Amino acid sequence: MKKLGFLGLGIMGGGMAANLVKAGFDVTVWNRTTAKMEELVSLGARGASSPREVVAGCDVTFAMLADPRASEEVCFGPGGVLEAMGEGRGYVDMSTVDGDTSRRIAAAVAAKGGRFLEAPVSGSRQPAREGTLVIMAAGDRSLYDEAMPALERMGKLVLYLGEVGKAAAMKLVVNMIMGGMMAVFCEGLSLGKRAGLRIDDILAVLDNGAMANPMFRLKGPMIQEGRFPVAFPLKHMQKDLRLALLLGDLFHQPLVSAAAANETFKRARDLGLGDEDFSAVFRAVS
Ligand code: NAP
Repeated sequence: MKKLGFLGLGIMGGGMAANLVKAGFDVTVWNRTTAKMEELVSLGARGASSPREVVAGCDVTFAMLADPRASEEVCFGPGGVLEAMGEGRGYVDMSTVDGDTSRRIAAAVAAKGGRFLEAPVSGSRQPAREGTLVIMAAGDRSLYDEAMPALERMGKLVLYLGEVGKAAAMKLVVNMIMGGMMAVFCEGLSLGKRAGLRIDDILAVLDNGAMANPMFRLKGPMIQEGRFPVAFPLKHMQKDLRLALLLGDLFHQPLVSAAAANETFKRARDLGLGDEDFSAVFRAVS
């Protein structure tokens, strides 16, 4: 069986790497904050001291990092992925980043003789733990095929979308829609409350009509209770809106609603809500 590496053990990466270990793969992990490696090591993973050490010992290395800056630092920085990248090795970056970041990493990996796949995901903390993510992949087809047994342990649906940049675009489009939905959902709940309506009545009306969806159903009651347990950090939602707006610029696509949602999420970050769940944007509009 191939040796697998995993870089970045945050909310998502921790659960995804755990699924690979539980599936019986030989897994080596690394995280910037080393304490987060303990749970994985106790499950049977090997801990490494740098991304370079992981890549040096593995056939295919996965990464799940915060944002474009983190992806670039882990790839290009000292002790990074590129220092050990070589002929035949695979690198699969599952972080949500923009296409330009992905293409820079893909080119650098290829220049070292390696293969690159971008594979951002939809789904949150629980689907990451349960191995039921939706995985959107693009890039080297042979690496996609080779990584499939591992991707199938992390996701319930795996799609191949073509050349590098396509999966990044898909992920940004989807999250832009999600951020816009959450912003206007919270504005609606807040407006209803001010108008003297009960939030659970609003949620019941929504859930029994054409707008019913799992996100409103999951987050609505928690918003009502003023609880925002973090599944998808608000700062990452704002990052995704920012990157989607940049993609819109590139294609001259008007993004009036998404731009407004981005302003709302920026305000929420400014209020200190960046590390809370993205549903805490409610606090910025109520
Ligand atoms: P998270 O819990 O904040 O984890 C971020 C990870 O990136 C951590 O391992 C963190 O290391 C690492 N990191 C950040 N900056 C770094 C740097 N400069 N150098 C090295 N490592 C760095 O975030 P998450 O929720 O797991 O999200 C990870 C990615 O998945 C993001 O791109 C996010 O947009 C995307 N995503 C998240 C969800 C979700 O619902 N949570 C769903 C789909 C996609 P430390 O532990 O040292 O901070």
